[in-house]
Amino acid sequence: MAEKEGSSGLPPDPVDEQGAIRWLEEKWGQGKTCPYCDANDWGVMGARRLLIESGQTEPLFAVACRNCGNTVLIESRFAGLRVE
Ligand SMILES: [Zn+2]
Repeated sequence: MAEKEGSSGLPPDPVDEQGAIRWLEEKWGQGKTCPYCDANDWGVMGARRLLIESGQTEPLFAVACRNCGNTVLIESRFAGLRVE
């Protein structure tokens, strides 16, 4: 399931999609709509590690609205997801 893309030199983050969705349903509740377009059509995907000020990287996953493209980045550790 890993995506292959190396243009930035950073490997894409693996994401446990089912785990992320379960966590989102717990935290956000089911039926959460996009704050911008009011659609309820979210997709979960891996996101590249974000370089933070300390020079360390933080694994993230992205939750994207499939209607308007609004994308929310979540730190994987908050969702208890595997961090590699
Ligand atoms: Zn939207």
